[in-house]
Amino acid sequence: MRCPFCGAPDTKVVDSRLSGEGDQVRRRRRCAVCKERFTTYETAELNLPRIVKRDGSRVPFDGRKLRSGMMRALEKRPVSTADIDAALARINRQLLASGEREISARRVGELVMEELRGLDQVAYVRFASVYRKFEDVNAFREEIERLERQPPPGEARQQLDLLAGLEKDELEKKR
Ligand SMILES: [Zn+2]
Repeated sequence: MRCPFCGAPDTKVVDSRLSGEGDQVRRRRRCAVCKERFTTYETAELNLPRIVKRDGSRVPFDGRKLRSGMMRALEKRPVSTADIDAALARINRQLLASGEREISARRVGELVMEELRGLDQVAYVRFASVYRKFEDVNAFREEIERLERQPPPGEARQQLDLLAGLEKDELEKKR
């Protein structure tokens, strides 16, 4: 990098070490022309956008909250931790890649739903039913009917049986 003192086009790194929590590299540099020394810090530019909630309030992105929300939907479902981690990593990557400084909670919820749909249909409906705050049982039933029209590959039959049970639970809750 260019010397900030004399403007020489190149400077030499004389020392590199980790600093902060290990998420930063501190480099001592020396200019070959004017011999001045200076320090640079290198960090990854990885700022997750802030979350804009429904009421307009802004909160920092909370990865643990995202994970626990997904885990609740996936409770007792046959989905491996590795698959869940991969799904969370894809969501994080999309948030980072967006380059946005703020993102709506709604959009994050949609990203989670997209991932859950690929992982497990029951978890998807569980999450969607909470997330979309289905106003009535009809909305919930419509979602299930939509899923029935597009059966997922593999264990589709078994999952739809479980959905029928879930729907019954939901109906009982609404009473
Ligand atoms: Zn210089």
